[in-house]
Amino acid sequence: MKINNKGIIFVISAPSGAGKTTICEHLLKNLNNLKMSISHTTRKPRTGEKNGVNYYFINKAKFKEMIEKGDFIEWAEVYGNLYGTSKKMINDLLNSGNDILLDIDIQGAKNIKKIYKKSVLIFILPPSIEELKRRLQNRNEEPEIIQKRLNKVADEINEYKFYDYLVINDDFEEALKKVMCIIQSERLKIKRVSKNFIKNFLQ
Ligand code: 5GP
Repeated sequence: MKINNKGIIFVISAPSGAGKTTICEHLLKNLNNLKMSISHTTRKPRTGEKNGVNYYFINKAKFKEMIEKGDFIEWAEVYGNLYGTSKKMINDLLNSGNDILLDIDIQGAKNIKKIYKKSVLIFILPPSIEELKRRLQNRNEEPEIIQKRLNKVADEINEYKFYDYLVINDDFEEALKKVMCIIQSERLKIKRVSKNFIKNFLQ
């Protein structure tokens, strides 16, 4: 039974290579009432990525038009591409009674927290920089991209204090369990329990 009627926004950020995407996929499979927000981006789809599933892939002109129309709750430039979370996506998911999972970068996480004070920010890190390097090299990314990502990590790691939770992805199963525990505990917080819960319970 769902005991809170207001959806919770969970934001997950991590340097690429920390295992965030796989963790998000497993969370969606394992937890009820949790839906992923699909961002808009000007980045080109990678092999296997589908429009409307991984992202809404749009061109720069369309993205700029959406910024001007105020369609985004937050947007940011990451590695030269634009990424944004649409207001409609968030409102539709919250109105349908679901909690939302946002896989966005630190700039986006900060903006979401400003707007939704009760959102929950989770930061995922690999066990070490060496391990991160190794994971990125295994991904077949171009050396230039890997270097760009590694350069960004130092800035990103300094921002971890801004988040509510820190999970180190050393062992995948353990890390997944920890993130699931965070979500379950947040859902059970008394401050989030719907006022109607007691009323309905006594009826
Ligand atoms: P990728 O291109 O690897 O899918 O994502 C690159 C980065 O952009 C990741 O850190 C991801 O979390 C971030 N990102 C994806 N969508 C959004 C969004 O809507 N807003 C912001 N601020 N960052 C996003």
